[in-house]
Amino acid sequence: MVSEQNRIFLKEFKLAEKVVIIGSGPAGHTAAIYAARAEMSPLLFEGEPPNLPGGQLMTTTDVENYPGFPEGISGPELMDHFRDQSKKYGASIITENVLEVDLSSKPIRLKTSKKEIETHTLIIATGATARRMFVKGEDEFWTKGMSACAVCDGGLPVFRNKILMVIGGGDSAVEEATFLTKFASKVYIVHRRDKLRASKVMADRAIKNEKIEILWNSTLEEVKGGDLIETAVLKDTVSGEVRDVAIGGLFYAIGHTPNTELFKGQLELDKVGYIVTQAKSTLTSVEGVYACGDVQDSIYRQAISAAGTGCMAALDSERYITEKELD
Ligand code: NDP
Repeated sequence: MVSEQNRIFLKEFKLAEKVVIIGSGPAGHTAAIYAARAEMSPLLFEGEPPNLPGGQLMTTTDVENYPGFPEGISGPELMDHFRDQSKKYGASIITENVLEVDLSSKPIRLKTSKKEIETHTLIIATGATARRMFVKGEDEFWTKGMSACAVCDGGLPVFRNKILMVIGGGDSAVEEATFLTKFASKVYIVHRRDKLRASKVMADRAIKNEKIEILWNSTLEEVKGGDLIETAVLKDTVSGEVRDVAIGGLFYAIGHTPNTELFKGQLELDKVGYIVTQAKSTLTSVEGVYACGDVQDSIYRQAISAAGTGCMAALDSERYITEKELD
């Protein structure tokens, strides 16, 4: 492990880092833990205020599906554990934003809010942001019955035997609504058109499910309640009619935006903007650059799957360093 003094000495001679990680969610920290234990002295950029380090789990209440915590754990507490473990094994966590990257240079060049850095390998773990609508009342009821992840939060006691609502018409909306029927007394899917975007198989499953009712041509205008959410105000997109629907929970499933702005034009992205990785690896279209977690995953998007790919990215990076004899 490189001591802080040695690190400063190495910087003065502009030696490149072995691995830099951008992102501080489960993927970034798992990559940091593996890279640190492999004595690669990783630098992890966790972002800086007003952005909250720790990724999407920081806005989640209880996490009951992360293995190893049979009693459940709060999202922020889980991320504290990740961060502590990264630090314990020697990762340097830097509270700065990465503002520019040059992936065409070898070593790769990065510019942060305070310095310039060179690195032989880069692990991108910048995640994705679940889209929200920011309707009237949303700020008040966010995490008080409102969430952007039914799979993460839907099984919590607060949602049991309640009437729940999912906004969206894609595969996520259908999958999450179907998942919620295990706990809820009824689930509404609210879709802004008269046809689901979801695949036919998934859509048919929702339409046939007796616990699911689809409210077509409807948009969410406002949420109301007391201590917890109680009412969704919907507007009919055809007639313009506005009505109140009683609910005990509301979940957005209107898609995610991958955080890839920094890499546009330098890495292969899919049509939505997710980083394309090669099958069964975290390799991207640029040698020495690896992607893990939600920034390359539009399907699973779970903390545990993100952590798994973080591990893969560190191993892929280590292999590259060894093969190229960069250590
Ligand atoms: P999608 O982009 O496919 O769907 C988003 C849905 O939200 C659309 O129905 C869209 O409406 C609606 N929407 C978007 N913005 C708004 C808004 N402001 N107000 C109201 N409604 C809105 O995202 P998904 O997360 O569903 O899926 C992403 C990808 O992941 C897809 O490729 C999907 O197939 C895949 N996936 C696959 C799964 C599986 O195979 N098991 C499970 C989950 C996802 P509109 O239709 O009118 O545009």
